[in-house]
Amino acid sequence: TEEKLRTTEKLAVIGELAAGIAHEIRNPLTSLQGFVQLFQSESKTDNPLHRIMLDELERINLIASELLVLSRPQEIAFTETNVQTALHDIVRLLNTEASLYGAKITLDAKEELFINGDKNQLKQLFINIIKNATEAGASSITVSLTKKFDLLWIEVKDDGCGMDQARIDKLGEPFFSRKEKGTGLGLTVSHKIIAAHEGTIQYKSKVGQGTTVIISFPAI
Ligand code: ADP
Ligand code: MG
Repeated sequence: TEEKLRTTEKLAVIGELAAGIAHEIRNPLTSLQGFVQLFQSESKTDNPLHRIMLDELERINLIASELLVLSRPQEIAFTETNVQTALHDIVRLLNTEASLYGAKITLDAKEELFINGDKNQLKQLFINIIKNATEAGASSITVSLTKKFDLLWIEVKDDGCGMDQARIDKLGEPFFSRKEKGTGLGLTVSHKIIAAHEGTIQYKSKVGQGTTVIISFPAI
């Protein structure tokens, strides 16, 4: 469709520009962060401006790294990847932060299941999807892993704010975000990772009730 074409075009342009820009931004950013940290440690009273500056610098850092993932030529290291372990690591990592917001992430993955994939990219994908669930204001998030026929299925179900169809149709479009601090690149990166692994992604959502993201990969 025209919408799809537009997305592909945008991605191509981003691909060309982003790597260069992200790279150029990194060095001055790192030195700025260093200076602010120095000011912070030198000042006797806690200055909220330092914290705000560090937060904002960290945000630029996040955008730059997402652009790098998007634009980096596919240097994927495919190996036999244990999806149960990957999910376990990510859920444990994200539960610490989620608990601060009163949310709980539960993992239902009893079987050790494998795909041919890039461990780091897959972890990045799971982080992006689960983070969106916590940011949607969910109090309960369930991540499940199952195998059906020759496919592994990963479901991330949340009871957050949900989305209408118009919003679902825009998911993955670069810079589409409804968050004050969103980059709108998380799902663009995620869709790219899934495509590189010959997987699929589906969204089921109801406004006010929650969202279920369903991802599949060829099993090995
Ligand atoms: P970002 O998180 O930076 O906004 P994403 O690409 O990760 O960018 O997501 C794009 C948008 O999709 C979000 O701003 C949000 O509006 C919507 N979205 C994604 N996942 C969910 C979810 N689980 N529940 C509700 N809305 C979601
Ligand atoms: Mg996101």
